[in-house]
Amino acid sequence: MTRTTTAAVLRAADAPFSLERVMLPEPRAEEVLVRIHAAGMCHSDVSVRLGEWPWPVILGHEGAGVVEAVGERVAGIAPGDHVVLTFDSCGHCRACSSAQPAYCDEFGARNMAPRPAGRPLATTLDGEELASRWFAQSSFAGYAIATARNTVVIDHDVPLEIAGPLGCGVQTGAGAILNVLRPEPGDSVAVFGTGGVGLSAILAARLAGASRIVAIEPHAPRREFALRFGATEAFAPMDEAEVRAVVGEVDHALDTTGQTDAIRSALSVLRTRGHLGVLAWRSIRPVVGPRDLLMRGITMTGIMEGSVEPNEFIPRLIELWRQGLFPFDQMLTSFPLHEINIAEAAMTSGEVVKPVLLPED
Ligand SMILES: [Zn+2]
Ligand SMILES: [Zn+2]
Repeated sequence: MTRTTTAAVLRAADAPFSLERVMLPEPRAEEVLVRIHAAGMCHSDVSVRLGEWPWPVILGHEGAGVVEAVGERVAGIAPGDHVVLTFDSCGHCRACSSAQPAYCDEFGARNMAPRPAGRPLATTLDGEELASRWFAQSSFAGYAIATARNTVVIDHDVPLEIAGPLGCGVQTGAGAILNVLRPEPGDSVAVFGTGGVGLSAILAARLAGASRIVAIEPHAPRREFALRFGATEAFAPMDEAEVRAVVGEVDHALDTTGQTDAIRSALSVLRTRGHLGVLAWRSIRPVVGPRDLLMRGITMTGIMEGSVEPNEFIPRLIELWRQGLFPFDQMLTSFPLHEINIAEAAMTSGEVVKPVLLPED
């Protein structure tokens, strides 16, 4: 059966989202139809506005909801299951076979391609096609079609209103710390940018036992958040020389901003043989020279989606949340889906860390 629902449609780079009735295609054999209860807003949703995109598009890639129907080739997921939707992967390339699906050979084609080959798209009621396979979900809508690979079943006791952000922003920040930088108890960590990803990294650094956690963030309310979440110090961005004088030296640095200046600052506070993780690529130009990489023995790692295997990592974060050790839900603010433009403005201004949108049908 074809499903009609309300979706937030973005029709141009500078347009507001518009709520429209849309028709979803029939789920295919390996797909899952999910009734979306909530979907987090992540910076990648908004950064689509900066690029060339074949409009119109339905965004949203941190969906949480209840499975309504599954295709005949889907195993281990059943109607009624509560699920978090994450990034998609092929399941058989070298990265997927070694439990590193974030580096899947087909990551771009499956998550960011507006019109993946052979996959039917949602349409308006007039039949106009909408790019609607964003991270194999497009979950700013009442229903979404996901795949068996990007659907993670969670326990029924986890409120669906908070679960969605685990599927991208939260696992990205937490995974970068716990899976890649891996600070030892007593180590120091600097986190550049404390939006949803950076705050998740700070929570994880505290869990790992880092004794010094430095947050560098331009928005004052987010610096307050960082301190509440376990940062031991929080500063506004400074130039390279100043940041070194103020912060001193750290063992690990994580850049969540993708800004050249932040990455330069991160390199300047890193100790010799320190480790820098970079998560975003918005404006990275060559910032690393032989003085950093060779003479100081710096390691720099690009990290996709926290290098997580979502079926293993998301339940682990939920368990830590249950024990009160990972209170990521405190960074979330809910908005009804029809207030998506207000939510975006609040996130962009720094007033809200991470909006969660609640569809009404
Ligand atoms: Zn793969
Ligand atoms: Zn994201």
